[in-house]
Amino acid sequence: MSTQRWISLVLVTGLAVLVGIGLWQTSGGTGRGYVAVVREPVGIMGTSCRLVAVVREGDEEKAEEALAMAQAELSRIEGLMSSWIENSEISRFNAAGARQPVKLSAETLDLLRAARDASEATGGAFDVTCRPLIELWRAAGESGQRPTTAEIAEAQMVTGWLGITLSEHEAIKSSAPIRVDLGGIAKGYAIDRAVEAMREFGVAGGMVDVGGDLRCFGRPPSGHAWGVQVRDPFADRVFGEFSLEEGAVCTSGGYARFTEIEGRRYSHIIDPRRGEPVGHVVSASVVAPTAQTADIWATALSVLGEPGLEELPADVEALLIAGDASAPQLSGKGRFPEDLKKKQLFPVFPNAVFSPAGS
Ligand code: ADP
Ligand code: MG
Repeated sequence: MSTQRWISLVLVTGLAVLVGIGLWQTSGGTGRGYVAVVREPVGIMGTSCRLVAVVREGDEEKAEEALAMAQAELSRIEGLMSSWIENSEISRFNAAGARQPVKLSAETLDLLRAARDASEATGGAFDVTCRPLIELWRAAGESGQRPTTAEIAEAQMVTGWLGITLSEHEAIKSSAPIRVDLGGIAKGYAIDRAVEAMREFGVAGGMVDVGGDLRCFGRPPSGHAWGVQVRDPFADRVFGEFSLEEGAVCTSGGYARFTEIEGRRYSHIIDPRRGEPVGHVVSASVVAPTAQTADIWATALSVLGEPGLEELPADVEALLIAGDASAPQLSGKGRFPEDLKKKQLFPVFPNAVFSPAGS
């Protein structure tokens, strides 16, 4: 042990990132003969991205191929589903008129169906059809003026699944202003697809992290579980950590992305039932077998707060942080909040590489 030098790569970059994963890596050839090959593509989904493939020493080329495939999957799905890309399938659907069929790939239709199911499962807290509300509050952030009750009611009228028909090859809306936003699910889905792509290369382990939402499988080079660090929602530092053998962690929180209107901060997450941005929950981290499920529930719990913990599927765990910096309030399900190890708090630097004390 003493001959090993443990290096922690803090996989946390940028302001929007909520969760980082600590990759414990041996160096100097004293490990089990495994190495982690890391790739950090820029420009993926407008946020930071870190891909890790673990292979036997000498198999680095295989790792590179696996990472290239994972990256290609992320970009491909972004191209299909991002509403920031003008020609994406989702943008075409959003721009379409009433009763005008929009041809969509089976993949996009499947994800829309999954999103519709999620709306049902979360009692309408998670609803990708709330885009008119998202846009209304985004515009309010730009103008600095709160939307009127009438404007909110109008946007709510075109929110919900009643006005959308999904058939085998196309989607149809009943009125033109109906629009969807897959921002709360597509990243998770893309992470899952990227992990599948990497697995096909037979790597021993791996991790896909997009903006702090991540999924890992197999083992890091140390042979131990992956270490996941939860970012402090109140300060630029790590709040605590836990270990994950296999699965996904996604975090939603209003503190990372918000708009300011009339001196008040509003989250980018909307409660579709009230037609307003959520308050109260500062950060919701969800551990689930797939990133898609974790992504959905992280957003849903930001809306539902603590009562939502009871609605979680059996194999889904969560950590909620509310309150404020002086008195954070933790709640959770499964291993949380008990298993969140409160390490000595240390600052988070973008792309920092550091050696923890005592290593
Ligand atoms: P992040 O984008 O920071 O990872 P989330 O996963 O919570 O955070 O996704 C938030 C995004 O989801 C918003 O930016 C918006 O596009 C969309 N969204 C906002 N409110 C909802 C909601 N109630 N249901 C589904 N999607 C939502
Ligand atoms: Mg989400």
